[in-house]
Amino acid sequence: MQSKAVRIRIKERKIEAEHFRVYRAAALRVQHFRCFYCREPLSSAAVTGDHARPRARRGKTTADNIKATCLRCNKFKGDMDWGDFLVLIKQPLAKLDGIARQIAMDRHFWTLTWVSCERIAAQVGIDAAPVLLDMFSPEGEAA
Ligand SMILES: [Zn+2]
Repeated sequence: MQSKAVRIRIKERKIEAEHFRVYRAAALRVQHFRCFYCREPLSSAAVTGDHARPRARRGKTTADNIKATCLRCNKFKGDMDWGDFLVLIKQPLAKLDGIARQIAMDRHFWTLTWVSCERIAAQVGIDAAPVLLDMFSPEGEAA
């Protein structure tokens, strides 16, 4: 038989997990279906939720602190604070190797792609966001 305290803790964890899923889904939409760190296109099937300020550093499960990320970035970031991680992957490529280098290259590539798409759309007088969302998100997820 579980004590009342244990039952309450289990219930709290279930509620937090539900909040986590909702915040992660919202973040994915706000981030235009791209990873918060490397900016690669991200589907809702592949998304992982990241505590920008990790729980190990007293980060909370709040809307502000949950980012939609790819599994690669999430695993590699680990317990790093989001700011430290961005500083790491924004370094010149010559200074990076392994997974950090791959993440930095993808970030560079997808940022350029996104910016040039927005510029082209602006030149022909259309709003790029709906087009980009349609291009980069898997079928049925753009809405
Ligand atoms: Zn990523």
